[in-house]
Amino acid sequence: MKINLIDQMQSLAKSATQLAKAGAERMGFNAEDAMLRNKLQRTIKELEDEIDLQFAEIGALIYATHTGTPAPSSDIQEILSYVDSLFEQVEGHERQLQILDGFQFCPACDSANAPQNTFCKDCGTKLAPQLEDADIDDGTVVTIKETVEEIIEEVKETACEVKEEVCEALCGEDNQ
Ligand SMILES: [Zn+2]
Repeated sequence: MKINLIDQMQSLAKSATQLAKAGAERMGFNAEDAMLRNKLQRTIKELEDEIDLQFAEIGALIYATHTGTPAPSSDIQEILSYVDSLFEQVEGHERQLQILDGFQFCPACDSANAPQNTFCKDCGTKLAPQLEDADIDDGTVVTIKETVEEIIEEVKETACEVKEEVCEALCGEDNQ
């Protein structure tokens, strides 16, 4: 007997799993994203603590100057450049967080725009359509639904064939 019911059920289950996974990703329940988000937030906190330390150091140098032991301005310049680089790193990490949250960056002015924006909130430039949205548009959902319906139809046909074969076998026995 040619029973490929199990195969059919397996591919049906696979389609359902893919559908569920796409749904979970759409809802933003991606474990990897959550971990990355956590890590970025921790690093930002560490960088901000380091910036506070450097600010305190600058304050101490300026106060020392005030009380008669002037610090070389090159020392202060060096710390200021270091603080600049720390702020740049914070900005970079915050940008990655915004990307994770689906924010889009204006090609003209680089402003962060909410995922649903079509035009830049700051300069009005048209924003490029997001690939992520294209991946999970209604067309994809319809395709998956059609595939599931096709599989169900095939399973039904196979079941009918099996029933016929069983009937023939039983009737054959009766006739003997
Ligand atoms: Zn813009």
